[in-house]
Amino acid sequence: MKSTTVHRPSLLGETPEAIQQAIARFNQPRYRGKQIYKWMHLKNADSFLEMSDLPLAFRQQLEAHFAIKTLRLVVREVSRDGTEKYLWELHDGLRMESVLIPDGQRVTLCISSQVGCALDCQFCATGRMGFSRNLTSGEIVEQVLRAQQLSGRRITNIVFMGMGEPFLNYPRVIQAARILGDPEGLAIANKRITISTSGIIPKIYQFAREKHPYGLAISLHAPNQALREQIMPLAEKFPLDELLASARFYVAQHKRLRITFEYVLLKGVNDEPAHARELVRILSPIRCKLNLIPYNDCGLGFQAPSEERIQKFLEPLLRAPFTVTVRRNRGNDIQAACGQLYVKTEAKKRFIIQPAVSES
Ligand code: SF4
Repeated sequence: MKSTTVHRPSLLGETPEAIQQAIARFNQPRYRGKQIYKWMHLKNADSFLEMSDLPLAFRQQLEAHFAIKTLRLVVREVSRDGTEKYLWELHDGLRMESVLIPDGQRVTLCISSQVGCALDCQFCATGRMGFSRNLTSGEIVEQVLRAQQLSGRRITNIVFMGMGEPFLNYPRVIQAARILGDPEGLAIANKRITISTSGIIPKIYQFAREKHPYGLAISLHAPNQALREQIMPLAEKFPLDELLASARFYVAQHKRLRITFEYVLLKGVNDEPAHARELVRILSPIRCKLNLIPYNDCGLGFQAPSEERIQKFLEPLLRAPFTVTVRRNRGNDIQAACGQLYVKTEAKKRFIIQPAVSES
């Protein structure tokens, strides 16, 4: 059901300077923007009324005109391995998700940058939903604050790898990353913030030229153009050889950084030893790391390879000059992979609440 409450703009995704501008009409001293910013990010305030070092009348004005948090938690699922998945409803009734993955001292939050996605990767549940809209920087930042609140854990790592293509929402994603990494705010180490793109080449060049300090990951998923086009339609517009050239440009701009290539292993599609040999050939000239992710089955007709197939795939990669990791699937019992919670909940909703009505 769509939300009917009046939407007040959130100040959460704004810098202290932008907050100062937004509140200019209230004739407050210049330091108020920073005060409000710190209350939101350091003290995780839910309401302006909590901001006890601001005059009460001003707090009431803020409360009447602006919002802080706008996400409504619809579902929180906790996996046996500690992975947590959150489904959020936005002020306009749309939904998106975040996934928290604890691993010892490291607590990673996988966040969304869009509602749905236009890129239609064949193995991805989010791709099947189509695109609804970009998230605001506030809606991106709020995923982190709320996950910390709910889990009671400090988030140490951020990956923009939830719903959507971050580089198709570039300015808001960069603004959110700046706020998350701000030493006067949440202070997440810049090198622990990773933006993952499926290969929007002009934005990779822009990101490299602007020399952002965040990590960059590219979802590769295929070692040649023909296969990539088959499973990732965006490859027609952004061909593999040009994508690899942009990756080389990125590492040339960042002398000490390497790029991460993500490769989801799909049984019988891209998991042959010949594919691994192609990967060695195309990735060897690039300072990089290859992260292999056995597919998390979500009913789209693809499957994860067996352990035996994974081992065979790994053999040619033993001689590669780059690091290769195989990601342990986390949260399998709650289907904590791209877009899956949303799809599952929507399916339930169709069945239980609106059996005869389409969701679109
Ligand atoms: S894998 Fe990423 S880019 Fe591809 S459809 Fe899914 S969300 Fe979009």
